[in-house]
Amino acid sequence: MTDHSDLHPDTLAIRAGTHRTEFGEHSDALFLTSSFVVDGAEDAALKFGGQIPGYTYSRFTNPTVTAFEERLAALEGAERAVATASGMSAILGLCMAHLKAGDHILASAGLFGSTIQFFNNYMGKFGVEVSYAKPTDPADWAALVRPNTRLFFLETPSNPLTDVADVSAIARIAHANGALLAVDNCFCSPILQKPLALGADIVIHSATKYLDGQGRVLGGAVVGKSEVVDPVYLFLRTSGPTLSAFNAWVLLKGMETLPLRMRAHCDNALKLATWLEAHPAIERVYYPGLESHPQHALAMRQQSGGGGVVSFELKGGKDAAWALVDAVQLMSRTANLGDVRTTITHPASTTHGRLTPEARAAAGIRDGLVRVAVGLEHIDDLTADLARGLG
Ligand SMILES: *Cc1c(COP(=O)(O)O)cnc(C)c1O
Repeated sequence: MTDHSDLHPDTLAIRAGTHRTEFGEHSDALFLTSSFVVDGAEDAALKFGGQIPGYTYSRFTNPTVTAFEERLAALEGAERAVATASGMSAILGLCMAHLKAGDHILASAGLFGSTIQFFNNYMGKFGVEVSYAKPTDPADWAALVRPNTRLFFLETPSNPLTDVADVSAIARIAHANGALLAVDNCFCSPILQKPLALGADIVIHSATKYLDGQGRVLGGAVVGKSEVVDPVYLFLRTSGPTLSAFNAWVLLKGMETLPLRMRAHCDNALKLATWLEAHPAIERVYYPGLESHPQHALAMRQQSGGGGVVSFELKGGKDAAWALVDAVQLMSRTANLGDVRTTITHPASTTHGRLTPEARAAAGIRDGLVRVAVGLEHIDDLTADLARGLG
């Protein structure tokens, strides 16, 4: 891969990973082919054996998928990225490649719901222990680490309460205890936050969110040093949850506008959060870009913007929250995020609905909480839409 270290993210998002074929196509080519033809018996033997680079079968690698991987690696400042069918298959690949029965995962409390289900129900079934630490308190991580802890797993900012974790401090604790630190960077994307530069070993992406940016396809990636990513690649090519060439191509197109979109998401979200904070029906707003956010200073040190997700509690509790969700006419009532279209959800009855009331309370998800993933519509139309339901 070309050395891109002197280029800006805006340029990398458009240019990194492009390999023109003999036809000179200007946009990235889409290789919809399951397998590749070799020149002869010896060529086949060398390519299958990995002695020479080259394409054999799209479960292993595909040129469109490689272009996506190279572009994402360049944006994260990483040696290597390997693409996966979804964000969850990135987490599956990471765990299958790096953990074994008897190991322990120390993860941040309040992770994405499917990640918690996967850790508790499936990793647990294969003898991997999991416990949860407070994302905002590095001392809690140091206290909960065990001799068999192999992986620290962190989301920052968290969903939906936007808790911000100190990546550098938690990385130091992981490394002092011989563990790897993986950061799920889905909420910030590499445009707002570069976990590897902060000391993390691995970045996880759900490309389904901001990397696509327009709610079209699922995808994911594991990003980091080759020595950490190579074993994940070997697991994926053997077991199959790899990214389709078509989805990789859609993601390449999406990423070209990622820097522009992230800045616009941040601008809109800050305006919406500021408006909400001044509204009499609102009890409290959770947004790292607000000075009232408990980790505002840390967020502004390790992120270049507050991100696109704003959560808030209504004074009227569940009834008021449901009335708001029902009243909006512009925002989409759906749990997806990272889309140009603004979405609105009531976490306590949807994404966190399967938790027991006690677990929900422990996670800080109160009945009056609403999450808005702010899109790119005009800010005045978004505030007018919320005003409809706030009375
Ligand atoms: C959506 C999401 C995932 C899972 O990604 P999929 O592409 O839906 O599998 C993981 N982590 C976070 C923070 C997410 O928002």
